[in-house]
Amino acid sequence: MEPNAPWVVFDLDECLCGLRHHLQTALYDLTGIDLHWSRWDRYDLTGLYGISLEDFTETLLSYRIIERAILEPGAWAALHSARLLGYRTAILTARGWHPEGERVTRDWLETHGLRPDRLHLVPMHQAKGEVLPEYGRVAWFLDDHLGHAAGAEASGVVDRVLLQDRPWNRVAEHPGQRIHSLWEVPALLAASPAVNPEEVLPEPAL
Ligand SMILES: [Mg+2]
Repeated sequence: MEPNAPWVVFDLDECLCGLRHHLQTALYDLTGIDLHWSRWDRYDLTGLYGISLEDFTETLLSYRIIERAILEPGAWAALHSARLLGYRTAILTARGWHPEGERVTRDWLETHGLRPDRLHLVPMHQAKGEVLPEYGRVAWFLDDHLGHAAGAEASGVVDRVLLQDRPWNRVAEHPGQRIHSLWEVPALLAASPAVNPEEVLPEPAL
């Protein structure tokens, strides 16, 4: 891989992995509100469930929500297709709120065979668009958060923004190109590879 190759920057939660299934159960236990995640019509669940940010964060911790994250179909293919196409890969996640967020995330990535070139944790309410310039050039950016997708577009360093379709981002006017599955990512990236794939793929063993 070229040391100055452009980046593909992936969001983690509700992109490469899902928290929503376990979180739905935990929030039901906490509030008694029986609401399937497919009806979460906004990103801010504290408002939807009428709970404080402190209670929400405590629930995430006590139910070990990120420890039990579920790998999304196509996640491995999406990340590794980027590597094979010559990009540097990063996971940029707002898991900085978790006291052991980096260790838990590294363990989870190892368990699931995901090996990005960089794992980058930022605070829960950090605007991702503000940290993207430190990457230099970002060829692709994927997120499910409308604000982060918009911030990536406005950062001036991102070529293309992908918005992972979720119930909470289904607005008519949205930033980026909406995808419904991570299985779409390899073909999208392959349509504009960073370098000639033949220069990156290992020689077949004879
Ligand atoms: Mg996310």
